[in-house]
Amino acid sequence: MAESGPGAAAPRDGAAEEPEGGGRRWGAQHAGARELAELYSPGKRLQEWISVILCFSLICFNFYNLLFYLRLEHTPSVLVGIFAGVITADFLSGLFHWGADTWGSVELPIVGKAFIRPFREHHIDPTAITRHDFIETNGDNCFMTLVPLANMAYKFVSFSPEALCESCPWDCYVFALIIFITMTNQIHKWSHTYFGLPRWVVFLQDWHIILPRKHHRIHHVSPHETYFCITTGWLNYPLEKIRFWRCLENIIQGLTGEKPRADDMKWAQKIK
Ligand SMILES: [Zn+2]
Ligand SMILES: [Zn+2]
Repeated sequence: MAESGPGAAAPRDGAAEEPEGGGRRWGAQHAGARELAELYSPGKRLQEWISVILCFSLICFNFYNLLFYLRLEHTPSVLVGIFAGVITADFLSGLFHWGADTWGSVELPIVGKAFIRPFREHHIDPTAITRHDFIETNGDNCFMTLVPLANMAYKFVSFSPEALCESCPWDCYVFALIIFITMTNQIHKWSHTYFGLPRWVVFLQDWHIILPRKHHRIHHVSPHETYFCITTGWLNYPLEKIRFWRCLENIIQGLTGEKPRADDMKWAQKIK
């Protein structure tokens, strides 16, 4: 499937360009996309609002405390910690994205409509994300980082200053990991945005510090089976080279008998 709009990717050889059964249209008018968009409920919206407010409050609190315990002699280990945090976030973004794209279904209780639905919608209507506001874009990722952020805040209020000073490089690793996980879907949204991006965002994309637009197009070719990492995308090439996702899928299919991306294909083929 090619992404609609200016970011459209050319399908690779042998990749399906459209679903069987003649459902030609992709994008907001696709029957599956419309049905999935309607499943976005007020309860889900409230959960996203609460997650975003709590998450950004905890980020500010933890950042202030982290700066307080930083020491000049920590610089090399802090830099290594931040780099490792970004790599870990990229890997986790891939693992989570792969899991939601490949397994489970929208019909699953609670998680189906709340967390799997947006992934299905995104493949049928890749530019819908560019029409989502800040809350819908970032709500789920903010929700995921709440527990580690709260844990970090608890550490800052309960540990001795000496212990906090000593663990500062580790905390920088955890904080970089949390920040990049929190930002992942915003970065992903930018990778689908072709007009009006701030210059600093384009600069970060061009230098591959965050997911570049051209790079992410590789994922948006049916059947969406590679390049799942969407934070920086640094791990996509090496993971594809070692056939990491394919191996994981073979193991899970062997154990459970489930076919990868069966639900994703079902939604893509929905024509009325
Ligand atoms: Zn995907
Ligand atoms: Zn995408």
